[in-house]
Amino acid sequence: MPSSMNLVSTRVPRHSLYSLSDSSDSDPDNEEEQDSPRRLTPLEKLTLDMCHDEKTIKELNVGRRVGFYKVCGEIGCGNFSKVKLAFHALTKDKVAVKVVDKMRLDLSTQRMLSREISIMESLHHPNILWLYEVLEAPSRLYLVLEYAGGGDLHARISSEGKLSDLESKLVFAQIMSAVKYMHDSNIIHRDLKAENILFTSYSCVKVADFGFSTKISSRSQMLDTFCGSPPYAAPELFKDEAYMGPPVDVWAMGVLLFFMVTGSMPFRADTVPKLRRCVLQGVYVIPTWVSAPCQRLIRGILKPEPTERCALDQMLGCEWLLPVETLRSNPHFYQLNPVQLLKVRSGWAEQEEVHAALQKLGVTKEHILNNQGKNSRSPITGIYRIVLHRIQRNKGAECLPSITGVVRDPKRDSLRAYRNLRHTSKLCVLS
Ligand code: AMP
Repeated sequence: MPSSMNLVSTRVPRHSLYSLSDSSDSDPDNEEEQDSPRRLTPLEKLTLDMCHDEKTIKELNVGRRVGFYKVCGEIGCGNFSKVKLAFHALTKDKVAVKVVDKMRLDLSTQRMLSREISIMESLHHPNILWLYEVLEAPSRLYLVLEYAGGGDLHARISSEGKLSDLESKLVFAQIMSAVKYMHDSNIIHRDLKAENILFTSYSCVKVADFGFSTKISSRSQMLDTFCGSPPYAAPELFKDEAYMGPPVDVWAMGVLLFFMVTGSMPFRADTVPKLRRCVLQGVYVIPTWVSAPCQRLIRGILKPEPTERCALDQMLGCEWLLPVETLRSNPHFYQLNPVQLLKVRSGWAEQEEVHAALQKLGVTKEHILNNQGKNSRSPITGIYRIVLHRIQRNKGAECLPSITGVVRDPKRDSLRAYRNLRHTSKLCVLS
């Protein structure tokens, strides 16, 4: 077990199972019960195994376990990281663990990584990948993330071709909802691209990879670092001038939308200088079979002048998306902190359920208080967020946007696409 890695405060209580709400209270009239041996809670057993069980210690030493997570195979690879599939040893939930080799990071990438963590910690939206926990060892950093088993949008389109009009609406509406939430929180993603849109189910998407993201103090704040992927870069980025954050994300969304509905990129070239010329010239051709309302939206977004580009609010109310209802309740940000469980039970819907689930695992009020202030760098926060997320998902917090009708398009009957989609995903169809 790497020495600097976080561990739960492992004091195993002598007394009987204590509840979350009164962990250290003992009953003086019940001495007999206190002295009789009792079963360890799952959390106590796991914590003891990690210190004394030979097999568990070996797994920790060879990297088949990281903290409370059992690591399986590799599922992806980034510049400085590997992404592995893992299971939480107590809750049994699947997670993705991004393993970052700290030795390969220079000062600027270290800064980017800590910004990625703090920005992910500050965001809580059904279409943004959850960060459950961060673990640190001398040479590695582990980001425990929500697992997105459906692959990324780029891989989906590369293997299955362009999305249907209806699928594009569903996916685009979710991306818009996430980006609007980010911009309302003064976060600019700066690397929106199909590879960073992950599927957790056939049609539910999550925006991932906040490595280039930044927090701005106001909408008009100018930024000056060229970030992201050239095919998605707005013209102002190629001009080496200071730029405003929100329109840069909006442009990338225009490229994404074009890619979704056509299966190809609006600006293509075999070298970056040629691509730069293409983007600055601003010439692209939308195939005629793309529906007229969708064409109008793409043209409204891919405007060379950032101030003339569609704003997110305009995009949300555009004609193409009219049948898609994107308003869903966002889980509350404050709920990300397990201390919320200790507050008087009244406010939020899942509190009782999460409380019961944690109690069953052996998480106590004492554990929560001992791990206070550590944010994601606490295994108690990890357990808590995984359980909370599962309960919220089961209650429909991540249901797809609902379709309130179908835009009639005499040329291409979208009804057929709609029927096909109904077989592959559960949509909430209101009319
Ligand atoms: P990244 O280092 O974030 O670019 O991730 C590299 C690859 O790992 C991605 O292209 C995905 O295929 C995969 N990946 C990253 N995060 C997740 C996740 N949360 N769930 C499933 N796969 C992921």
